[in-house]
Amino acid sequence: VTRATTDAHQLAGERLRAIDQRYTASRRALVEALARAARPVSVPELQRAVPTATSSLYRNLGVLEEGGVVVRVATMGDTGCYELSEDLAGHHHHLLCSGCGAVEDVVVPEAVERSLDRALGPIARRAGYALEHHRLDLIGRCRTCR
Ligand SMILES: [Zn+2]
Ligand SMILES: [Zn+2]
Repeated sequence: VTRATTDAHQLAGERLRAIDQRYTASRRALVEALARAARPVSVPELQRAVPTATSSLYRNLGVLEEGGVVVRVATMGDTGCYELSEDLAGHHHHLLCSGCGAVEDVVVPEAVERSLDRALGPIARRAGYALEHHRLDLIGRCRTCR
């Protein structure tokens, strides 16, 4: 278990306590599986990694989502994926395959992140918003689909 995973568990436990929920063994196992994957994971994949009844899986994901521990990630297909929230996993972007719907994490170099915020800040300001952060997906064809 890496240091990062230990921190993720600690933060997840605190987040759930804040909404009066327990950080149970199956919720812990879900966080573990998501931390290990380091990319958005579909519900069927999560169910294989953490065998539980579908209803408890969705209930646990709902509680983790409410606590801000996990987020649902939109994909090209209609199968939803989940990942750890950026508070736990750090800021990153996603690569989406327009062919097979594969999703993976991609880290954008710090210099590019800074120029993105520099370019996007004024656009948000003109619309009356103070920019807090951004989301950006890169869509293309994966190695298999090319
Ligand atoms: Zn593909
Ligand atoms: Zn970014």
